[in-house]
Amino acid sequence: MTQIPEDAIKCLDKGFVRLVDSMGGDDAIVQAARVSYGKGTSKVSQDRGLIRYLMRHRHSTPFEMVEFKFHCKMPIFVARQWVRHRTANINEYSLRYSEARDEFYYPDPDHIEFQSALNKQGRGGEVPAELKQKVQDYFKEISERSFAIYSELNEAGVARELARSILPVNLYTEWYWKNDLHNLLHFIGLRSDSHAQYEIRVFSDAMAESVKAVAPFAWEAYQDYVVKGMRFSRVEQSLLERTLPDRVIDDINEDVAYQLTATLHHNKPREDADLYPLYQKQGGSDSEADFKLKWDSGEIEIGNVRELREFKEKLLSLK
Ligand SMILES: Cc1cc2nc3c(=O)[nH]c(=O)nc-3n(C[C@H](O)[C@H](O)[C@H](O)COP(=O)(O)OP(=O)(O)OC[C@H]3O[C@@H](n4cnc5c(N)ncnc54)[C@H](O)[C@@H]3O)c2cc1C
Repeated sequence: MTQIPEDAIKCLDKGFVRLVDSMGGDDAIVQAARVSYGKGTSKVSQDRGLIRYLMRHRHSTPFEMVEFKFHCKMPIFVARQWVRHRTANINEYSLRYSEARDEFYYPDPDHIEFQSALNKQGRGGEVPAELKQKVQDYFKEISERSFAIYSELNEAGVARELARSILPVNLYTEWYWKNDLHNLLHFIGLRSDSHAQYEIRVFSDAMAESVKAVAPFAWEAYQDYVVKGMRFSRVEQSLLERTLPDRVIDDINEDVAYQLTATLHHNKPREDADLYPLYQKQGGSDSEADFKLKWDSGEIEIGNVRELREFKEKLLSLK
């Protein structure tokens, strides 16, 4: 089986993720999207804005134009979880054709924990050193014993496709795994999440490094709108509608009006005299004197006009 290549990210004790090839990047997303939205200009800031818009509105097909092909080596029990992601193209090392190698996953003591009392699918709680040692010993014992039997059966000429089934699921396997960016982000969203099993999270985090390098704007947008974004259910919204005082919404709206003014001014600079009317047009209601004070404070952040207007609409719907 393949040893860890130089350009790979090592995962667990003997595994790795290596980006073999990729097709396209942020530019491919923009190129595809412009078929739907027209050519426009292609300044870098506009490309970023377009990618953020697509991500925010779950217009996902342009993200499918970017492809990643990875060479990965992982324990079989990790592959079992990984393979549930059905949109990938996979070609795996065959134990019908080739002999298994003596490569088993032995967990690091730091990751040997008790069954979580809170999460039925998780770990939690420090295991005493003697028990950790016992776990490690058992992993080694069962791996070595099963491999010895496997080798014996192999030498006796028993079919490899049958002999392999004596091996445990901490045996390493490897594959080529190809997927598009949209589905890869979906994979990373599920498998880099804190609820995912540690052993698959390590691989998912390693693949995330490739996404960051190949499509940085898409990665940033994914973090902002999917990973760290928040959606409210109908029940949650109705609670907010009933409980949030209007004055809080008005205060936030006021901030949005300032941010909108600053952003519009940043995108297309205005004369000083036009700034206060512009702010009023964005729904701002401070007096001109207060506006000047705040404007001169230099504290107003700029954002994205479309995103700020969408936020304003959401806020107003809570009133
Ligand atoms: C923390 C965690 C715990 C889990 N626990 C369990 C468990 O206990 N038992 C278990 O069996 N699984 C479990 N899973 C696996 C999980 O149910 C999914 O099978 C897995 O995460 C793949 O998700 P997916 O189907 O969205 O991804 P993919 O297969 O990559 O599909 C991506 C998207 O494509 C679409 N799609 C793909 N194929 C189809 C199709 N045939 N029909 C309709 N739409 C399709 C869907 O929109 C899907 O979301 C767990 C996963 C996680 C992350």
